Amino acid sequence: MTHLDTRAVHAGRQDLADLGVHVPPIDFSTTNPLPDIEIGGACYEALATGGLPVPGGTYVYQRLWNPTTGRFEQALAELEHCEQAVAFASGMAAITACLLAAAAEGKRHVVAVRPLYGGTDHVLSTGLLGTDVTWADPADVACALRPDTGLVIVETPGNPTLELLDLADIARQSGSVPLLVDNTFATPILQQPADFGAKLVVHSATKYLGGHGDVLAGIVATNAEWAEKLRRVRAVTGGILHPLAAYLLHRGLQTLPLRVRHQSESARQLAEWLAARPEIDRVYHPSLPQCDPTRLVGRQMSGPGAVLAISVRGGYEVAARVAGACELITHAVSLGGVDTLIQHPASLTHRPVAADAKPHASVLRLSIGLEDAEDLRADLERALKRA
Ligand code: PLP
Repeated sequence: MTHLDTRAVHAGRQDLADLGVHVPPIDFSTTNPLPDIEIGGACYEALATGGLPVPGGTYVYQRLWNPTTGRFEQALAELEHCEQAVAFASGMAAITACLLAAAAEGKRHVVAVRPLYGGTDHVLSTGLLGTDVTWADPADVACALRPDTGLVIVETPGNPTLELLDLADIARQSGSVPLLVDNTFATPILQQPADFGAKLVVHSATKYLGGHGDVLAGIVATNAEWAEKLRRVRAVTGGILHPLAAYLLHRGLQTLPLRVRHQSESARQLAEWLAARPEIDRVYHPSLPQCDPTRLVGRQMSGPGAVLAISVRGGYEVAARVAGACELITHAVSLGGVDTLIQHPASLTHRPVAADAKPHASVLRLSIGLEDAEDLRADLERALKRA
């Protein structure tokens, strides 16, 4: 098998030479001419029930299949060491489809480990989709399972305070229950959860996969059986990713290894510098030994990633002033883009999380971009002194 960097450049492009083009075409058609009723009906039946396109057939309608989106799916599946992938209009649409697919089989119970992204925490806590959650400590996942448990859901590194989980251990505890790992923070460049037993690997593709802050998307990499279930849900709920977004994401994958490794190294340098600052109580980043007590970086992850969090002395008031005082760094939610962002999770991304599980009011989350690390350090130093 070729190296990951080579696959990032070439995956999902196998049909281009036959098409006589060098970059993927964008197919915007919402409907496709039908050769005749029989073929059209057979293709509709296959796609609407979650199948792949019939060779030589028609895609029928964009909510069922789009070839531009299909190329991005194939590329991401390859990078994640999975058979297939299914792309959605957002990360939350992807997570929703996983929950609905499990619930459709009567498995409405979910075991989840906190912290999770605030939106995921919210959908599980509220039971908005008819599911029922048990929050478990990482060591107690097996004890929390029930006969109707349809999914075990984890993030590692976790959003926003970068807790790391041993995926092989969680997969072992999950037994036959599918393990869903949100791999948004690590990306397939640093971690391939399927290698450790995950059945569903989810991304908010809005973040590193797109990488430029201009695409909203989600994707699930998985095996053929689950991909079929997810496409079936997607066909009826209408959550398919738009082809223009898929084109941009597929293009973004080509530079993903370079971006992620460079951003991770800058984050490592900044985490080390921040840990020595008097204004800061604690730094959360997998490169710091206290944040990775069982040494998962090097074993499960090939690098620490480019999201870090800081707990500032002085609590909420100081945190609010630091976020507001940054000049080069943008005060905004989201992460994974080429520019550095800072935000206050308790007020924003994790606002809906229950009080006893919410990030502390002194915590700020940073997503480190591709700027020079010295310039970022200078901006943070100015903001910390001013606050
Ligand atoms: N998972 C993680 C780890 C996230 O950070 C986010 C969004 O911030 C999501 C899922 C949801 O993704 P989206 O905003 O693309 O719906």
